[in-house]
Amino acid sequence: MTKYVYTFGNGQAEGRADMKNLLGGKGANLAEMNLIGVPVPPGFTITTEVCTVFTEQGRFAAIELVAKEVKQAVAYIETLTGTKFGSKENPCLVSVRSGARASMPGMMDTILNLGLNDLAVEGIAKKSGNERFAWDSYRRFVQMYGDVVLGMKPHSKEDIDPFEEIIEALKEELGIKEDTEFTVADLKILVLRFKEAVLKKTRKDFPSDPWEQLWGAVGAVFESWMNDRAIYYRKLNNIPAEWGTAVNVQAMVFGNMGNNSATGVGFTRDASTGENLFNGEYLINAQGEDVVAGIRTPQQITLEGSRRWAVLQNITEEERAAKYPSLEEAMPKAYAELKEIQLKLENHYRDMQDIEFTIQDGKLWLLQTRNGKRTGAAMVKIAVDLLQEGLIDEKTALLRLEPNKLDELLHPVFHTEALKSAKIIGKGLPASPGAATGQIVFFADEAAKFENSILVRIETSPEDLEGMNIARGILTARGGMTSHAAVVARGMGKCCVSGAGSLRINYKNRTMEANGKIYKEGDWISLNGSTGEVYEGKVKTQEATLSGDFGKIMELSDKYTRMYVRTNADSPKDARVAREFGAKGIGLCRTEHMFFEGERIKAMREMILSSETEGRKEALAKLLPYQRADFEGIFEAMAGYGVTVRLLDPPLHEFVPHQQATQKELAEEMGISIDQIRIKVAELEEFNPMLGHRGCRLGITYPEITEMQSRAIIEAALNLKAKGIETKPEIMVPLVGTIAELNNQSKIIHDTAAKVFEERGEKVEYLVGTMIEVPRAALTAEGIAKVADFFSFGTNDLTQMTMGFSRDDAGKFLPAYLEKGILKQDPFQVLDRHGVGQLVEMGVKKGRSTKPDLKVGICGEHGGEPSSVEFCDAVGLDYVSCSPFRVPIARLAAAQANIKHSAK
Ligand code: PEP
Ligand code: MG
Repeated sequence: MTKYVYTFGNGQAEGRADMKNLLGGKGANLAEMNLIGVPVPPGFTITTEVCTVFTEQGRFAAIELVAKEVKQAVAYIETLTGTKFGSKENPCLVSVRSGARASMPGMMDTILNLGLNDLAVEGIAKKSGNERFAWDSYRRFVQMYGDVVLGMKPHSKEDIDPFEEIIEALKEELGIKEDTEFTVADLKILVLRFKEAVLKKTRKDFPSDPWEQLWGAVGAVFESWMNDRAIYYRKLNNIPAEWGTAVNVQAMVFGNMGNNSATGVGFTRDASTGENLFNGEYLINAQGEDVVAGIRTPQQITLEGSRRWAVLQNITEEERAAKYPSLEEAMPKAYAELKEIQLKLENHYRDMQDIEFTIQDGKLWLLQTRNGKRTGAAMVKIAVDLLQEGLIDEKTALLRLEPNKLDELLHPVFHTEALKSAKIIGKGLPASPGAATGQIVFFADEAAKFENSILVRIETSPEDLEGMNIARGILTARGGMTSHAAVVARGMGKCCVSGAGSLRINYKNRTMEANGKIYKEGDWISLNGSTGEVYEGKVKTQEATLSGDFGKIMELSDKYTRMYVRTNADSPKDARVAREFGAKGIGLCRTEHMFFEGERIKAMREMILSSETEGRKEALAKLLPYQRADFEGIFEAMAGYGVTVRLLDPPLHEFVPHQQATQKELAEEMGISIDQIRIKVAELEEFNPMLGHRGCRLGITYPEITEMQSRAIIEAALNLKAKGIETKPEIMVPLVGTIAELNNQSKIIHDTAAKVFEERGEKVEYLVGTMIEVPRAALTAEGIAKVADFFSFGTNDLTQMTMGFSRDDAGKFLPAYLEKGILKQDPFQVLDRHGVGQLVEMGVKKGRSTKPDLKVGICGEHGGEPSSVEFCDAVGLDYVSCSPFRVPIARLAAAQANIKHSAK
């Protein structure tokens, strides 16, 4: 027979820590704490399987399934506590809490003091010798139960909680201000009025039968699994609905039984810095909710913590010791025991623990333990410290880390305190992490107008590059995670929020409307590129610092990785940054970005606007020295490593001027009429530029472009060789779908290289390869591999073409797809393993069936996303390539992937 209820108490337990799937995190740890001798009030856990029955078959089916076991489990609590459920002399009171596998905000709140009624309250009063405590507990119970189980909680922010309304009214009648001023008689009136309110709203009496109360509470926990907040949270965090939640029912212990009682929360190490220092807060004579409710000032657990707190609060040592003593000073015995237990728990779980405890009349009880949430900095420090303390091994230390959290260590962040009072005015995609504060500018060429500017655009284009570089941060109303703004900003390590759809940007008036308010040029705003939040005004930021522990983690990652990490970079500066972060080469150098600065754009435009090959060649000759110099800089910055340079890729119309003033200027320079320019610009317009005249199609129609770029690459490599600098150029042809396309381009490249070698009487080694970003290339990879020395998966375009989602327009419908659960993740962020992934896997296999040692990597945005990196390891890629600031994340993710895959 299936077991649905697991008891624990008095050093015994039917469950264990590794039964989280069945008992939820809280239940499994309550059981485990019993087994290792930590004092925990007795109780039981109803399994997650019952939640599934509840959801699928309803309340009665679920109750019927567990009724007998729950009765026995309640009897078990009664025996261990010497109390009786429903008794009026010696009542058994319990708490009821939810507890899923992963901790989940949005689930049902805790119900405390369940079992109280008009009779039991007298029993508790007598037993505790404290009538006020008994009635206060009863008042709290009716309120909590009414809110959570009987649906009295207000539904909108504007509505007032009916119970709070009653409390406020009574205070007014009595002319008092604080809850603590209520007498026993007042509390009795409150309970009475609360119950009347329940009757009025629900047309039913408040349940006085403890069993009815218990089933009501259990049902409410299960029901909360399907409430909107919980569903939303699950979606955000990819938690399947099938998991269900467990319910924990536990004997009450009271932290509010007088001045020898207390309640608190603690962390075995500092959750924000990682320092190995037990810390936390507590309150004397209080129940759990009081510590977090902010009504009273919580005090620090340790003396050291208390002293540090006093300094920050500007409180003298005398005042601190008198008014806010630490638990260490106030209850030394209970503190000593707590200190020992927290160490025991940390050693047992081998990780930083977040604990809840209550002291009832001097006796310490633990109510919860779990691995504590922590900042990126704390995550790294704690893992390295635990490793050095010998509590975990190297692989475990690496697996403990969340790669994306490393980001916090690489970029400036907002001051936690400053954020508390900051006003959010919009939200977009967290396109490029970090924090930025600055004054609004609407045009890239005006980015230097203020010392700190935030470039606000409907969307950005390659023309905006320079301004984007100057601005502190970039905010766009349109575009997804692979939009121009997002890709470029990530490359620069610049904070960017993209696709903030609720913003109304008016270039003409130079205004932005957000949250119903108009912001003008020069107004201050702040961006959080790690969360996508946009704030009004200045929010204080602080620089990131890379500690020695970070270096240790990177060193370990390299020890355990199979794949190596390259970077996507198209300037010497980016290449250097990436190299410092540990990139071993460049996986994608997008040459188009080099055509925008200063004089280059003019030559580029001349090239595009010439109708004759000769004119184009002339313009290209002007571009050649720029390109060569760029490549020299990049090759030098990456000396000793491979550098993949991609030939020109984007549609040409992206380079031509669209504004009249610039068109006029260009016409004058080229000595042609503005109409001729207009006609050419119109000619270049395409209905579907992403599927139009771009990629290798440019080099096929204008071979002189491929020629010029190949020459620049080879000449740059030869120039460096002359200086004794080793380079490994890899020339990459974009958007290939057929072998003939690659053959065509490859021939031009080899012929050009041969010509240059002959001219210079000197050679360098180089490779010619292709991107695999058109589905047909993956499907026919065995043929393409005959011509290619290497493959690099361009998963941005491969996703676009496989899903049929335009990279530039997906922002319009993807949010709805994610919200409705049609897609679980944005496929431009997280590689769609099931679909696009098949093409990647097939491409690798087919390619290597022709050339077993074919070098294969990825350079789409997925190359820096941990779960996609894991996939790349699984299908045997040699390397992943990502923007410079994601290099450390990819290095860690690659190591984790290899550890996981080699363990199988
Ligand atoms: C890709 O398509 O994945 C890629 C890296 O190229 P781009 O983003 O420049 O099109
Ligand atoms: Mg591409």
